[in-house]
Amino acid sequence: MIKAIVGSCWGDEGKGKITDMLAENADIVIRFQGGSNAGHTIINDYGKHALHQMPSGVFNENTVNIIGNGVAFNVPYFIKELNYLKESGIKEPKILISDRVQLLMPYHILFDTLEEARLSDKQFGSTKSGIAPFYSDKYAKMGIQICDLFHEDILMERIKAACEIKNVLLEHLYHHELLDPQKIFDEVMGYKEFVAPYITNTAEYLNKAIKEGKEILLEGQLGALKDPDHGIYPMTTSSSTLAGFGAIGAGIPPHKIEKVYTVVKAYSSAVGGGAFVSEIFGDEAQELRVRGGDAGEFGATTGRPRRMGWFDCVAARYGCMLQGTTDIAFTVVDVLSYLDEIPVCVGYEIDGEVTKEFPVTPLLEKAKPVYKVLPGWKSDIRGITKYEDLPENARNYIEFIEKELGYPITIVSNGPKRNEIIYR
Ligand code: GDP
Repeated sequence: MIKAIVGSCWGDEGKGKITDMLAENADIVIRFQGGSNAGHTIINDYGKHALHQMPSGVFNENTVNIIGNGVAFNVPYFIKELNYLKESGIKEPKILISDRVQLLMPYHILFDTLEEARLSDKQFGSTKSGIAPFYSDKYAKMGIQICDLFHEDILMERIKAACEIKNVLLEHLYHHELLDPQKIFDEVMGYKEFVAPYITNTAEYLNKAIKEGKEILLEGQLGALKDPDHGIYPMTTSSSTLAGFGAIGAGIPPHKIEKVYTVVKAYSSAVGGGAFVSEIFGDEAQELRVRGGDAGEFGATTGRPRRMGWFDCVAARYGCMLQGTTDIAFTVVDVLSYLDEIPVCVGYEIDGEVTKEFPVTPLLEKAKPVYKVLPGWKSDIRGITKYEDLPENARNYIEFIEKELGYPITIVSNGPKRNEIIYR
């Protein structure tokens, strides 16, 4: 069976923990989009780990971890994370890399950095990991597939073609030193020996695995609101964050994705710019941020303080709908235990009218939150493993949100550790 684990909103919902948990019984875990621009924090028997590009199945020695063709593959970062796992005493994970995955090139990071500097106060808050220039090149047919490393003439030709265009921009727009195709060629050829043993036709591998009835997880990055088509464009990421894209970014039949676990966080947080309707500020935000600990304070990749807000039913329902949710994993409920009352955003007021439909970006900028205030439960709920043992007000909070969203909450996460989980 294929299960996708994806985010409902802005990311940082706790997908890493849910994937790590489900990966215990998975034969294969696949990353199908994005790159090293977002992180998963996982706490398990091996300690606490922040992974960026590695699939979250690397802690299980029997799981095969796949870097799918849809990923922006940063080789130096891959080597760094592999070394990190080794140093942490984790048995060398089984990894396969798609022969069609494209390489995140050194100039992608350069262009990301130069462009953010040029935009100055209008910048997108990019992590400067080169993701936007990478996907721009991919769709402009200027990308480099990893298989090109084994066809040197083609590789050189493609690098030269990319440099021709990039050097015009470097000279006239960014006033920066020009790229030397030979230098870039030598640098990427330096990756070849290291990556060669991992490279395979992962689409063939996966389609065979499906026939053999293997348990397969698709691991998404960020959340539905960061999707370039359906999200808060242009404050989105550059590859699709939706479960449906798993079929493309991994090379599997769309109808084989039977379960979509959408990870929904019990309050809101976001890193980076863009409209955030239920955002809170000042002491109220700081308290939630601090109480959130690792889940609240800083983005795993950027270290930037997260923007905080109350739960947003409008955004989360929309996100769950686009993900094609079959199950919701509702996370970080424990963090709300300190509150007397918990506001929940149940609608957006736009130009005097209240809607539950998530609007297009220009209208989103105008939206004001409509809140319903629910009573808090004021007791520590970590350690509880049975749903019935949760305080009544905690259950009411969960069930209220479940009704607003219209999708079943089948997993409740009440702490960062693997075993802090309640199945319903
Ligand atoms: P991802 O990008 O969706 O994988 O999110 P991250 O894993 O980076 O961020 C979520 C953070 O929340 C991590 O630090 C997790 O350890 C933590 N976390 C996950 N689930 C829970 C939970 O139920 N309760 C608490 N307190 N923290 C959680």
